[in-house]
Amino acid sequence: MTSQKRVHYFGKTKSEGSKEMKDLLGGKGANLAEMTSIGLPVPPGFTITTETCAEYDAIGGKLPDGLLDEVHRNMALLEEETDKKFGSEDNPLLVSVRSGAAVSMPGMMDTVLNLGLTDKVMDGLANVSDNRRFALDAYRRLINMFGDVVMEVPHHNFEDEFDRIKDKYGVSEDTDLNEAGLEELITAYKTVYKNSTGEDFPQDPYQQLEKAVEAVFKSWNIPRAIRYREINEITGLLGTAVNVQTMVFGNMGDDSGTGVAFTRDPSTGENKFFGEFLINAQGEDVVAGIRTPQNVDEMVKWRPEIYEQLLDVKRILENHYRDMQDIEYTIEKGNLLLLQTRTGKRTGLAAVTIAVEMVVEGRITQQEALLRVPANDLNQLLLPTFDSKAERDILTVGLPASPGAASGKIAYSADEAVDRTHEGESVILVRKDTSPEDVSGMHAAAGILTSTGGMTSHAAVVARGWGKCCIAGAGEVVIDEQNRTITINGRSFGDQDVISIDGSSGELMAGDVPREEPKLSEEFKSLMEWADHHRTLQVWTNADTPQDAKRARNWGAQGIGLCRTEHMFFEGDRITDMREMILADNLEARRVGLDKLLPHQREDFKGLFTAMQGLSVTVRLLDPPLHEFLPHEEHLQQELADRLQVPLEKIMARVTQLHETNPMLGHRGCRLSISYPEILVMQATAITEAAIECKQDGIDARPEIMVPLIGTSKELSLLRKQIETTIQSVKEAKGYNELHIPVGTMIEIPRAALTADEVAKHADFFSFGTNDLTQMTFGYSRDDVNSFLPNYIRHEILERDPFQSLDTTGVGQLVAMAVSKGRNEKKGMKMGICGEHGGDPLSIRFCHQIGLNYVSCSPFRVPVARLAAAQAAVKK
Ligand code: PEP
Ligand code: MG
Repeated sequence: MTSQKRVHYFGKTKSEGSKEMKDLLGGKGANLAEMTSIGLPVPPGFTITTETCAEYDAIGGKLPDGLLDEVHRNMALLEEETDKKFGSEDNPLLVSVRSGAAVSMPGMMDTVLNLGLTDKVMDGLANVSDNRRFALDAYRRLINMFGDVVMEVPHHNFEDEFDRIKDKYGVSEDTDLNEAGLEELITAYKTVYKNSTGEDFPQDPYQQLEKAVEAVFKSWNIPRAIRYREINEITGLLGTAVNVQTMVFGNMGDDSGTGVAFTRDPSTGENKFFGEFLINAQGEDVVAGIRTPQNVDEMVKWRPEIYEQLLDVKRILENHYRDMQDIEYTIEKGNLLLLQTRTGKRTGLAAVTIAVEMVVEGRITQQEALLRVPANDLNQLLLPTFDSKAERDILTVGLPASPGAASGKIAYSADEAVDRTHEGESVILVRKDTSPEDVSGMHAAAGILTSTGGMTSHAAVVARGWGKCCIAGAGEVVIDEQNRTITINGRSFGDQDVISIDGSSGELMAGDVPREEPKLSEEFKSLMEWADHHRTLQVWTNADTPQDAKRARNWGAQGIGLCRTEHMFFEGDRITDMREMILADNLEARRVGLDKLLPHQREDFKGLFTAMQGLSVTVRLLDPPLHEFLPHEEHLQQELADRLQVPLEKIMARVTQLHETNPMLGHRGCRLSISYPEILVMQATAITEAAIECKQDGIDARPEIMVPLIGTSKELSLLRKQIETTIQSVKEAKGYNELHIPVGTMIEIPRAALTADEVAKHADFFSFGTNDLTQMTFGYSRDDVNSFLPNYIRHEILERDPFQSLDTTGVGQLVAMAVSKGRNEKKGMKMGICGEHGGDPLSIRFCHQIGLNYVSCSPFRVPVARLAAAQAAVKK
């Protein structure tokens, strides 16, 4: 684990990192070194590696021996290059200490600025800068940040003092406080510091540095950072790196400033320089969302030459990185300096637009573009938007920070948003600004609204990363947390009132607003065309109704891989016929019920075959146990008794008789067809009749019949014979012979997978039912798993929920084995998957690798699956 070298320098003298070294230097460190190497203006500094963070943890939270010597050596280099001295009273060097892991985690870990200031150094800084106000401002920031981040002094203690002194001096903005006010503030801050820590604020710069480095390492494991990694499924990292960099000052007066910019619009993807800045401020002021910054377009009026330089930086960075970048910069007395670049977080819409435009610009290939868009992010583009024709009761307009349409009741804190969401409410989290502490609530809420902060504030960046709807900086919203109301221009709303936010226009509206299907962009269509061109895996859908089938087909589905017929029996009056059939005492009576059901089933299938004409429709025979169709509450049983004119006791007795302790492993699937072959006969008849009637009307119906829950080949051979006999007799009765209906089976019981060669003898195709296969391989009940699974994930016993993403090592091994055994028996046998995993990008990749022919997923996920299948094909 111990690496030879723990500290890597970046500067004009030498630059020891590169963008490829993210794992070791973190994203920030690697890119600072890279930008230095390509000649961009970057203040010099050095990076302590992520391996050192892992070492720090491994030895029980201590800085490893030798580290500080290396830090001192690099500090000497830095002093030489900047011609300043750390701790000097004449010509002081100040540094920033910032975290930075291999994967960006905006705002989640700690930062300390202006490090190296002490009482005496502060006087020195005032002298050399000839700007005492600036030196005082830097010092008060250091005491606050160091206290807050390193020594865990409660932040509000500093805030309270700041408010008190601003009041005393009659100013509202931080920048308006004069020297006397700042002197008083520093004295007050030192008292806060001492009262809370029991120590004086350290007057030794190296002691400050050592403690700050430790604090950054520690921040890797603070709850909000852990939670952020959980939500974003970030695993396998060593820790955070620490970047120590020469301070440059955006707070040196009105010719200085600081800003954040994206080289393209991260909400829409438009190729337009996008960003914000604050005059006379330090970096944290922009991202913390405390002051609402100015749009970067306004920089043209303030400093046109800097704006031009920024456009040059955009060009250089995009040419070099071939992707949209998110940068932080400072302007120190008219000089532009870059403090960070990283791949910019973006919405799904922006990801698609940028990837496609970069292909058109000749920067990347189609394959790279396909890999650039996280497949799941396509969901954001497919979500309904507010109906453009619907009436909107607009309360105010804020900054459109992250697109989307969200409606909900008002939640005032992150915890409240989490709790109310768990209780099934849709809530909008309404805050003055958000802090990294709020991530859980932001994630849970349907949308986020803040009254301060800009387009690059923490709330906006995090929301865009998740594709969550967000409005920031809605300054007319007055939040009264105490009384749980918000007021906008005299209109008040309580926590039970519904509001709607449009993250594309920034409009905040009263009440709920109707939605409409989204309009898909040309870029989306191009990306999908490329995906279809590159993928080899087909994408089918799980659909039970013609509407779902049509929707899925519009989104590119190439067949129905699973039609769950049980859903058809709940429509209208059919459930009564179904119940009559289940209650029947004998075969004859059962047939009466089934005869009533048959025409309904036939019509259902005709609808599906018509919607999918020319494509396969895989119909699964009845799967759930019969008791699922009977009412279990007494008043409903009484209603049924009245309707069927049978005694209540008879219904109760049948319910008791059908009761199972463990229905998932009970009388279901093919076992039903073995016990009640007449149900199978009815369904096979309806399928065949529907197909023939369609064909006679010129519709190319392509049904396939699938038997669920096979465990032994005997079950399948028996049922297959009955299905074939039924098909044959319908064909004869109709005098129609131009129809072939393949008969296959689901593989969803481990035994079926283990004996797949035997099963294959009787099957034309396999479809892996990985919901049940996961249930039975792990022995986890699908219906009860939530009682313990979240805990398993937290303890990292499992990396992710195996019902959402296929457990490729265990369950996947069974699938792979069944594929190979099946195809050994029957060369080229068609195989697909129809469990929920068919729509999950990671599982789709596995399906591609083991040579399945198709994945079948819910209609909504079809585009995601098309892209994921293409990614699997182009990924080496
Ligand atoms: C499965 O088990 O994966 C499957 C698709 O069937 P169901 O979810 O209906 O049990
Ligand atoms: Mg199943």
